[in-house]
Amino acid sequence: MTDQLFADVLVDVPVPETGRTFQYLVPREIQPLLHFGHRVQVPFGGRKVTGYVVGLSHFKAVDKIKEISKLVDEKPLFREDQYALARWMAEYYLCDTVKSLQAVIAPVLKKTSARLITRYYCSVDSSKLPGLREELGRRAPKSLAALEKALLSPGLTRAGLAAAAGVSTAVVDRLCAKGLLKAKDQVSFRDPYPQAEMDVSKRVELNVLQQKAVGEINNSIAGRRHQVFLLHGITGSGKTEVYLHCIEQVLREGRQAVTLVPEISLTPQMVKQFRSRFGREVAVLHSRMSDGERFDEWVRIERGEAPVVLGARSAVLAPVRDPGLIIVDEEHEWSYKQEETPRYHARAVALYRAQKSSGVVVLGSATPSLESYCRATPDGVYRLISMDKRVEGRGLPRVGLVDMREEARAGNGGIFSRLLIAELQKRIAAGEQAIIFLNRRGMNTLAVCRECGLVLKCPRCDISLTYHTEGRLRCHYCNYSMRAPKLCPDCGDSQISYFGTGTQRVEKELRAAIPGARVLRMDADTTTRKGSHQQILEEFESGAADILVGTQMIAKGLDISGVTLVGVVNADITLHMPDFRAGERTFQLLAQVAGRTGRGDKPGDVLIQTYTPEHYSVQAAARHDYPAFFEKEMLLRKTAGYPPFSKMARVLVTGPEEGAVKTAAERLRVMLDEFAQGQDGGRIYLVGPAPAPLARLKNTCRWHIITWSQDYGQLHRMLKKFRRAGGCAPPGKGLHVSLDIDPFNL
Ligand code: ADP
Ligand code: ZN
Repeated sequence: MTDQLFADVLVDVPVPETGRTFQYLVPREIQPLLHFGHRVQVPFGGRKVTGYVVGLSHFKAVDKIKEISKLVDEKPLFREDQYALARWMAEYYLCDTVKSLQAVIAPVLKKTSARLITRYYCSVDSSKLPGLREELGRRAPKSLAALEKALLSPGLTRAGLAAAAGVSTAVVDRLCAKGLLKAKDQVSFRDPYPQAEMDVSKRVELNVLQQKAVGEINNSIAGRRHQVFLLHGITGSGKTEVYLHCIEQVLREGRQAVTLVPEISLTPQMVKQFRSRFGREVAVLHSRMSDGERFDEWVRIERGEAPVVLGARSAVLAPVRDPGLIIVDEEHEWSYKQEETPRYHARAVALYRAQKSSGVVVLGSATPSLESYCRATPDGVYRLISMDKRVEGRGLPRVGLVDMREEARAGNGGIFSRLLIAELQKRIAAGEQAIIFLNRRGMNTLAVCRECGLVLKCPRCDISLTYHTEGRLRCHYCNYSMRAPKLCPDCGDSQISYFGTGTQRVEKELRAAIPGARVLRMDADTTTRKGSHQQILEEFESGAADILVGTQMIAKGLDISGVTLVGVVNADITLHMPDFRAGERTFQLLAQVAGRTGRGDKPGDVLIQTYTPEHYSVQAAARHDYPAFFEKEMLLRKTAGYPPFSKMARVLVTGPEEGAVKTAAERLRVMLDEFAQGQDGGRIYLVGPAPAPLARLKNTCRWHIITWSQDYGQLHRMLKKFRRAGGCAPPGKGLHVSLDIDPFNL
């Protein structure tokens, strides 16, 4: 041992081994300043790179050692527990720890100093005040006025104080110079929701189902035991109110609560609901905030001033010290999966954090993911709480199915069925509102037989084939392809049509079919400006339009009492997405969309147009029957060996040029095969490479290799070896390889 100090530094360079650190000597002059969590600059491979101090010791571990070049910030940026979280993420998702750490502390990296405001206080001892008053009153009445004002309202700014006292700022400066006023630099926190008024009075009486849910969850919170609850509550059953009551319990325990909602549901109304219950104890985090706003909220959380965190995906990384409760609302939502490194799923991170802190997790959904629901069976590890009734005895909407094959036979080749048009006209005449929904995720073109509804599937993967420009149908998992048939191989009819329908076309046809209807459209094109999403909703809510046409943006959170009809234009688009979760997505989407109607006094109706009304997902959604859907879907997954009966991962190769991406992906497949064969234990399945759906995203080509196994340990070890052997290093100029563990949006 020496009096020399050595630091383990996580450097900002890609390393084959996740979590690898390098030791550096700490120069004597910065020894007293350096702590765990500091950002530093270090020499690495002939250049200077950023690094993070994650360990300090007096033992030298390597012979040749270099010195830390400099300390970047005054204060450390993270704590031990945050580093542990980053390490876990890197190990689970097999990425560089430095990347996961940077995600965990992202708001402080973007901005490391808070905005300071100088505030003024009277610093005269109260015993000396009477004398001073008399003296200043004679000699300097302006100074006295400013001093009296500072006494009355401490903490004004320089200009604020001068204005309030009716003097010039020079007077304030003079009082400071004399030591009669004291200036203090204080952190100023921006409030991203200054208008979110706090209406504390509005409290509803919990109904029996809500009381039971709150009772059970709060019991666990009070017992400080780690427990996961799956709150399966249908749309309109009042889940939010349950969350708020559980958060109150956590605050009583002196701990913190994190509530995650999908980005799209994080509306000002949602914030208002939390604010009116918890005031400024709420910190809000989402992607549309400025870096400064996010940083301020982050600091308030870290200091313990805001024990209630409400946010989208990344809020699960918030710097709470002792999360007693983590709520994941709409836990099945696809937006919880981050689509760049670290490719984490917020629900998985929530489960990890709550386990570490002996906290409670509440997964809420009307349409739980298969992964979660299968753990909530009577012998599973989660506890299931069901809320199967809407509040105040409101009914569930009636769901009707429209068979589009019959429309085709009757010579109607348009987007809208005759029934849907007739119903829309009826509602407009009655002064009611309607929503037309169409799904645009998975913009792939489908080949559907309009006569029998057949969509061709891959013979190997049971995934729908999608149409490509070369006149071929292709599997996005294994790259199987076939010439697109002219005649339907099932019924021999020639009515095969290829679609993808856009919102603009829907709007146009709608206007043509119902002249005079007031139509609003909400999609990616009409919501590019900040706040336009909200603006369209408000316009619709005010009754300025009869029909709102939109994509999944409108499937969530919308609570408009005037809506009595929801039309789903083409349920098949989701149903035949090239994704093994297509059936699950369809059920979720239809159930969510149906939840948007009948929220007022009038009952609601839903009309679903489809070429396959007999499909189990459509059938179960129409009957609001989650268990029926669950049973059927589980059976199919089991047969195919897909999650939740296995763990899945994929290797994603991206680059600007198709040929190079494909060649690289093929080479990686060979490498993966070798590693998969070298393993003993459960079998590892591999398919691909194939072009990933949405392959031409942002001018990059994406090819993937999909792999899965019932034996997760096995799969993880194989991928870890693959990574260590350089499998994730860039295989060529401009090319990029990443691992995606538990891929969600295939
Ligand atoms: P969910 O998220 O389960 O679909 P919400 O939490 O959005 O449902 O609640 C639906 C509506 O019911 C909200 O307007 C909410 O204020 C209201 N609500 C919740 N609980 C009650 C209750 N016990 N009595 C009356 N109204 C309630
Ligand atoms: Zn295939």
